[in-house]
Amino acid sequence: MRYGVIGAGALGLTVALRLAGKGHEVTVLERDPVPGGLAGSFEVAPGIWLEKFYHHLFRTDRTAVALIDELGLGGSLRWHKPTTTVYLDGRTHPLDAPPAFLRFAPLSLPSRLRLATGLGYLRVLPSARSLKRHTAGRSMRRVMGGFAYETASEPLLRGKFCEAADEVSMAWLWVRIHCRTASLGYLHGWLHLLHVANMFQVYPYDRRQNSSIALAERLVRHLGA
Ligand SMILES: Cc1cc2nc3c(=O)[nH]c(=O)nc-3n(C[C@H](O)[C@H](O)[C@H](O)COP(=O)(O)OP(=O)(O)OC[C@H]3O[C@@H](n4cnc5c(N)ncnc54)[C@H](O)[C@@H]3O)c2cc1C
Repeated sequence: MRYGVIGAGALGLTVALRLAGKGHEVTVLERDPVPGGLAGSFEVAPGIWLEKFYHHLFRTDRTAVALIDELGLGGSLRWHKPTTTVYLDGRTHPLDAPPAFLRFAPLSLPSRLRLATGLGYLRVLPSARSLKRHTAGRSMRRVMGGFAYETASEPLLRGKFCEAADEVSMAWLWVRIHCRTASLGYLHGWLHLLHVANMFQVYPYDRRQNSSIALAERLVRHLGA
């Protein structure tokens, strides 16, 4: 059967990979000159690609890790243990684990306890089903209290989602807390490698004759929407 997939983002390329793997003929349509969508990259110097947005994987992102392995890139996936900090009033404060929450000096002790309890609850809650109808902002304000929310969480939410911050689902926050691991995975060479490797599988060119960039350019020219 012949399939058309709109969008060469992570999802579109993976769908195309699975369909091609079952022997179907797949065409991916992409409007951007480079594949990858939100997780795409841009070329800063010949052969040097930088991601448009910062990305990392959790250890719990098993499907993505399995895909990276399947595409032969497992050796390029490196795991690091960075410290997550919040910059406030000219100082950085580690804020990535329950003990750090309890030491978070800008908040009063009761606020810290409320913050740690709320985040601990998300950590142990097994599913986000009950959270889907709640927004992250309103729920966090209720659990943490207004001052703690405005100090620790609201700036992060606004920084990431801008004017859409008030509409973000609590289920999103559950994923960030429940699935988070201390080790964060980075693909050496960035996710651009993954998209290009994925395209190799969907459109099997001769690897010896095509650099990954030439392949990306040819593919996008060929498919250009
Ligand atoms: C700032 C930021 C940080 C993030 N950090 C992480 C992270 O650390 N870890 C993580 O797992 N995820 C992260 N994400 C989320 C991740 O980037 C996305 O979930 C993922 O890239 C979405 O892939 P997608 O294929 O579903 O959609 P997209 O990446 O949006 O791909 C859709 C594609 O479709 C194309 N398209 C749309 N309409 C058309 C059309 N009509 N014709 C042709 N083409 C079309 C678009 O150009 C695009 O290439 C982050 C996102 C952002 C914005």
